[in-house]
Amino acid sequence: MRDFEFESPKSISDLCDALSTHGEDAKIMAGGTAMMLAMRQRLLSPVRILSIAHIPEMQGIGQDEAGHLHIGAFTTHTAIAESVLVQKTHPMLAKVAGGLANWQVRNQGTLGGNLCYADPSTDPPGCLMALDAKLVLQSSSGLRTLRMQEFCVDYFETAIQSNEVLVSVVIPPLPLGAKWTYARHLKTPADHRPMANLSIVSWLNENGSKKFRIVVGAGTPLPLRLIDLENTLSVEKIPRGEIANLVHNTSEALPTLSDARADSAYRQRIFGVLLERHLPEHLV
Ligand SMILES: Cc1cc2nc3c(=O)[nH]c(=O)nc-3n(C[C@H](O)[C@H](O)[C@H](O)COP(=O)(O)OP(=O)(O)OC[C@H]3O[C@@H](n4cnc5c(N)ncnc54)[C@H](O)[C@@H]3O)c2cc1C
Repeated sequence: MRDFEFESPKSISDLCDALSTHGEDAKIMAGGTAMMLAMRQRLLSPVRILSIAHIPEMQGIGQDEAGHLHIGAFTTHTAIAESVLVQKTHPMLAKVAGGLANWQVRNQGTLGGNLCYADPSTDPPGCLMALDAKLVLQSSSGLRTLRMQEFCVDYFETAIQSNEVLVSVVIPPLPLGAKWTYARHLKTPADHRPMANLSIVSWLNENGSKKFRIVVGAGTPLPLRLIDLENTLSVEKIPRGEIANLVHNTSEALPTLSDARADSAYRQRIFGVLLERHLPEHLV
C-alpha cells in the first residue's frame, strides 16, 4: 500500500471544501471495508484520505413528519438491521442489512460506502430501488437528490462526482398494505456475496389495481427494475400456469454478468427461479 495523507473533517461543509481543494487526489473513506482491500491490491492509490467517521450530520436514522426514513450515509449495516424504527417502517431493509456479508463487515461497513462503491454483488441497491429510495448528494455548490435509477450508472460506476459526498438515503413510507420480498442466491453457503437477488414491493392502489416494483440485482451490472413485467402484471391477471412462461421470457432477456462465479445463462436461470418462486405470493 502506498503512503497517504489522512484528514478527518468534522462537518460536511469542511469535507466539501477539502474535496474541492484536493480534487481527484482526495478520496472519501467511510468504514474502509471495500476501500482498504482496493488499496492493498493497488486498485486505488489515493494521495489523501478524507475520513467521514467524525461528521455527526452523516450518522443515524430518523423519520420526518411525512413518514420518510432518513438514513445518514455513515450508518453501519448493523445499526440499520438493529434499528427498531427501520424494523417497524421498512422491515425489508432491516432484513437486507442484517443478512449481508458477515458480522465484521456489517459492524464496520456503511450503507453509503456500499452504494458509492457500486460493486454489483451487493444487497442494498436493489432493495432500495424497490423501496423507491432517493440519495442526497452534497458538494460545495449545493445539494442534489437522485433516485436510485439515476445514481446507479454502470458496473462499479455511480453518478457521484469527485467533489460530492453522499450524505443520506431517504426512503418514502411503504404504501398501505404493501407486501415485500427480498431473496438472494448464494452459490455455496460459505459465500458472503449474492450472485443474484430479487426485491419486490407490491400494493393495491386507490382504484383497486395492483402495483409492483420488481428489481433484480447482483447478477446484473447494476440493479434493474423489470418495468415490462410490472406493467404486464398490473394490467392482466396472469393464470398461475402461465407465470413460468412469463418469467422464463423475462429472465432470458436480462443482461446478466458472466464471470468466474457463474456465466450469464446460469444467472438468467437463477433469476427465473427466484421470480417463479416469489412472484405468486404477490399475485393473490
Ligand atoms: C468479505 C466481504 C463480504 C461482503 N459481502 C457483502 C454482501 O453479502 N452484501 C453486500 O451488500 N455487501 C457485501 N460486502 C460489501 C460491503 O457491504 C461494503 O464493503 C461496505 O458496505 C462498504 O462500506 P464502507 O463504509 O466500508 O465503505 P468504504 O470502504 O469506506 O468506501 C467504499 C467506497 O465508497 C466511497 N464512499 C464511502 N462513503 C461515501 C460517501 N458517503 N460519499 C461518497 N463516497 C463514499 C469511498 O470513497 C470508496 O470508494 C462485503 C464486503 C466484504 C469485505
